[in-house]
Order: sequence, then C-alpha cells, then structure tokens
Amino acid sequence: MTRPFNFSAGPAAIPDAVLIQAAGEMLDWHGSGMSVMEMSHRGKEFMSIYEEAEADLRDLLAIPANFKILFMQGGGIAENAIVPLNLSQEGTVDFVVTGSWSQKSFKEAAQFCKPHLAASAQTAKFSNIPLPSQWQLSSDANYVHVCTNETIDGVEFHELPDIKALGSQAPLVIDFSSHVASRSFDWSKVGLAFGGAQKNLGPAGLTLVVVREDLLGKAMKHCPSAFNYKMVADNGSMYNTPPTYSIYMAGMVFKWLKAQKENGVTGVAAMEMRNIAKATLLYNYLDQSQLYENRVEKPFRSRMNVPFYLKDESRNEAFLAGAKTRGLLQLKGHKSVGGMRASIYNAMPLEGIKALVSYLQDFEATQA
Ligand SMILES: *Cc1c(COP(=O)(O)O)cnc(C)c1O
Repeated sequence: MTRPFNFSAGPAAIPDAVLIQAAGEMLDWHGSGMSVMEMSHRGKEFMSIYEEAEADLRDLLAIPANFKILFMQGGGIAENAIVPLNLSQEGTVDFVVTGSWSQKSFKEAAQFCKPHLAASAQTAKFSNIPLPSQWQLSSDANYVHVCTNETIDGVEFHELPDIKALGSQAPLVIDFSSHVASRSFDWSKVGLAFGGAQKNLGPAGLTLVVVREDLLGKAMKHCPSAFNYKMVADNGSMYNTPPTYSIYMAGMVFKWLKAQKENGVTGVAAMEMRNIAKATLLYNYLDQSQLYENRVEKPFRSRMNVPFYLKDESRNEAFLAGAKTRGLLQLKGHKSVGGMRASIYNAMPLEGIKALVSYLQDFEATQA
C-alpha cells in the first residue's frame, strides 16, 4: 500500500515500516500474549522495551554519560512551566525570542521566575535570528532559553550559540521539539534539551528531556513531584506511569533511524544529509518561482518546516484542494501566520519533496 505524503507539522508522519511493525505486534508483543498497551510499566517485557529505547536514543543522539534521559508527559508546552520550576530558582532567566514557540515560553515563565528578554526578532517578523554577540545576556541568569527550531515561523539555529563565550555562566536550555534527530547537536553547549515526540520521534504523549546531571536537585518547593527532574531521574522515568505505548513507538523509530544509510554514514548523520537535500530542493524551487515565496532570510531557514505563501492568496483554497488530489496532505500553514507550510521531518522521503515540487510547478503553470 502506498500512502499519500503527509506534510503535517505535528503530530506528523511516522515511517511506514514502524507503523507496519506496530500493527503486526498489536495483539501479541513478541509472544508475550499482550499488547504493549496492556503491559505493566515495571514488568520485564516493558522494561526491556524501555531500556533499549533509552540506549538507542543515547547512541543515536550521541548523548554524553553525564546527561540523564527522561521520558516524561506534558509536551513542550508543559515544559515551558516545568523548566522554570526546576531551574529558575525564581530568579532571572534570559530568553531569546525567535518565533511563536520561544515567545510562548517567555510568557509562561513569568508565572515562575523573572524572564528577561535578551533578544527578539519580532520587529523583523521572525525572518531571522539576532546575532548572539548582540544578545543582552544577564549576569545573574539561572539559564538561557532558546527554541532551536521554530516550527511555525520556519527559523532554525544551524549552530548552537556558545553562551559561555559570550560571558554567560548560565546553562543553555533548548526547545528542540521539531528538529531533534534531524541533525547532530553539540552537547558541550547544552544544559538541558526538551521536545515533544510528535514531530520527529513518534506519536504524541511522550516528552523527551535530556538534562545535565549537575542541574538536577534545584527545583522550587512547589514543583509537582511528577515534574521534578530529580524525582523523575532517580526513578528511571517511572515515578509515575510513563507514556508506555509512545515510548515503544519511539523506540522503533530510533531503530529505524539507526538503520538509515546515506553516502556511507548512518543514523542522524544520514538523516542530516537527506534533510539538507530535501530542504535545498524545496527552497530552490520556491526561490525561483513567480507565485510562491518563503520570507525567512536564507541563513536562518529551517530544514524541517518550510512556510510559504502564494503571492495571490485568493488561490489558497484551490491550491490545498489540488494538493490533496495529488496525495499531498496537511499543507495548510499555522492559523497564526496563514499561508502554507510543508513540514518535512525525517519520515518524509525525498520522493515526497519531488512530488510536492512537481505539484507546485503544475499549479503555478495553471496560474499563468
Ligand atoms: C509542537 C511544539 C511545542 C508544543 O508541543 P505540545 O506537545 O503541544 O505541548 C513546543 N515547542 C515547539 C518548538 C514545538 O514545535
């Protein structure tokens, strides 16, 4: 069965091979007589799933031994509160606002700490990322927050900021929800990374937190126990029942990622090459087109989320209807910015981009 290409921003496409495997194992996982959904999270069957998923993820993302991997619930939006509850000590936190998601984080943090706007690209309509050397970092910040891929605005950090080199002693917190596992990360620059699974890792319900050990144990008194990173870490993410089925699905995605090959490399390195090729093909087409435009400055364009606009917006509905008949789904842009958006995460093959470009071309030709 061939399925349409799904450009959803999230919950997003999952590799066919993973869905097929999950379907085959639905009623009876590995002769256990149980669906993974029906297993005790502390039983030996689920523990083996859990331990493999964690080990595969550590390997895949090259996460150093001094970082804990936490599998939590709540999603990225809950982390906007959970991070300050754990790390802010009610003090100053620096925020760099590069789009809708970091803006949301900045606003939410005000309930828990003293957020300081170190830089914002709002006046540039989130079409770029302010130069790190111009950020107004505080001397007493408890951490610095950035969203490294702005899912709605289509802006991505192609290099993590080195805030230590900018004179900050604070740990860097990154929201990497929508580009985790699409590229490698330099963990030496990171204190904590969080992300919901539903963009690039699997189904919704699982929230990944990767946290440096020395940042544990600083939570405020009123931080809920289930959201206290130290409590979660000390209990191997089983202080409360973790999202077991989502962990199982993500575990299969990790194995799928590890098996991907491109030009002699595997895993995330292979995905990164493929993602560069995919994004290049799409942006190149948009840039030469008379009908479509992407409004993000070139050095800051996301490889994962490509927002674009029809110069004649009265054609939007016709564009989306035509896309659907060609098997190209969920191209409508986020309601806050309008237009179109192609989210092209790891599970989107190059063939999907070719099909999209071919449709963009045909639709443009009918407008002439
Ligand atoms: C999707 C997303 C979120 C929010 O995730 P929820 O699971 O809805 O809480 C946060 N940050 C970024 C960058 C996202 O893409």
